[in-house]
Amino acid sequence: MQDVENIVNGQKLFLKPEYQEVFKNKKQFEGHAGASNPEKVIDIAKWTTTWEYREKNLAREHITINPAKACQPLGAVMAALGFENTMPYVHGSHGCVAYFRSYFTRHFKEPTPCVSDSMSESAAVFGGLANMKEGLRNCKALYKPDMIAVSTTCMAEVIGDDLNAFVIGARKDAEGELDNTPIPAAHTPSFVGSHITGYDNMMNAILQELNMVEEGVEVEKDAERINIIPGFEPYLGSLKEVKKIASMFSDKIVMIGDHEEQWNTPAGEYKLYAGGTPLAVAKTARSAAATISLQKYSTQATAKMIKGDWKQNYATCNPIGLGGTDAFVMKLSELTGKPVPKELTLQRGQLVDAMQDSYPYMHGKKFAIWGDPDFLLGVVSFLVEMGAIPVHVLCHNAPRKNWEKEMQAILDKCTFKEECHIWAGKDLWHLRSLLFTEPVDFMIGNVYGKELYRDTKIPLIRIGFPIFDRHHLHRYSISGYEGALNLLTWITNSVLDALDEETKDIAKTDYFFDCVR
Ligand code: SF4
Repeated sequence: MQDVENIVNGQKLFLKPEYQEVFKNKKQFEGHAGASNPEKVIDIAKWTTTWEYREKNLAREHITINPAKACQPLGAVMAALGFENTMPYVHGSHGCVAYFRSYFTRHFKEPTPCVSDSMSESAAVFGGLANMKEGLRNCKALYKPDMIAVSTTCMAEVIGDDLNAFVIGARKDAEGELDNTPIPAAHTPSFVGSHITGYDNMMNAILQELNMVEEGVEVEKDAERINIIPGFEPYLGSLKEVKKIASMFSDKIVMIGDHEEQWNTPAGEYKLYAGGTPLAVAKTARSAAATISLQKYSTQATAKMIKGDWKQNYATCNPIGLGGTDAFVMKLSELTGKPVPKELTLQRGQLVDAMQDSYPYMHGKKFAIWGDPDFLLGVVSFLVEMGAIPVHVLCHNAPRKNWEKEMQAILDKCTFKEECHIWAGKDLWHLRSLLFTEPVDFMIGNVYGKELYRDTKIPLIRIGFPIFDRHHLHRYSISGYEGALNLLTWITNSVLDALDEETKDIAKTDYFFDCVR
């Protein structure tokens, strides 16, 4: 039991004799009841590492185990928080919103503002209009947002609530209280797509709502204005880095959906809203000469709207790694008509130099990697640039069209391309089978690879989303030349850590336990 004079955390608490006794009794009881047979458990665990089990596991279709994706409204919340004084509002059950908030808060170590209209059993039967009417008014009165961005959970989608009609109804009923508040609304059904689809749907809804013009009205273009949409970006340092690079070309390049400050507030008085793209700037997004999306597959619907309705020049760049950053920099140079600034050329040279230093250690190393489609395209490109072998590239939320083709084109550049496999639509329990049957040297992915590390002993390099069990990684950039340097540092040093581990045995392997690597 806890002692008030000496409170201990869970790590030590459960080692106390009274808890150990409880665990022993529990095991004994389960054994007697026939619920578990320790020998059988060991046998089955061994069997799960075999090729036979792998075949069965890969044939699995109707259940997901340890997913490598989150649900749509979570992405919608991130998109909403990229705008000034905006409250993400989720039409649905409160438990879902508690999950979104805690997910982001554990990753960023910052509070996450987001409300729900707490639909419960009666709303599931009669529809959620009453919740929406009351919820939007309460949200405005209590939290005073300038914009309320509405998304939905599974419950609202399963019963078929008509979001647009509900928002119109709620506005009418609000006695003027919601009159000057934009309320973009996006259907974000979680049983299709993933958090990146939700991000896309909400970004699309916000941009449409803020840039509405009457039919036939021509919007005057600002030839120098360029929008950058970051996509579902969990690395706040990447947002900062991209803005820094853009500012070297022009001060008329603006980020649309900039959530950097929201999750990076200083200690002191708590502010509900922080940073974000000013609504006045977002309202003129349509007049820009061009828009660049940094994540093609997180902005597909938004791209369609911008190209089709706004008739705007639209490009996608993925500024991760050397080649990816080069393409982004050259796109900015092309759109602004300005040469690449000297500072960037210098950064590039420094990165290439560092890559040359580390190349011998990364070359030929085998990796398993998982994450979102754009993240994977960027980081796998970088691994290939470094001569590494991405043996297993797993994308649970892989888009149906084109993504695999794009990834294959990257893997085709790998010297050992025959060893590389793309696993689209597979989860981390699938990956477990792959790792046991075709092992790799390192894994790159989010916190949920921790169990894989425990089972397979393959070192996990934490890059991706979410990362709950390590601090401050999200503050760094993985984009731009500086970001590529961070990737290089994290990955190479993990390789060197492993090398030290393998060579530390005195008089056995320490002939290579060197101080200079
Ligand atoms: S999958 Fe559906 S029920 Fe689960 S958290 Fe997401 S919206 Fe809620």
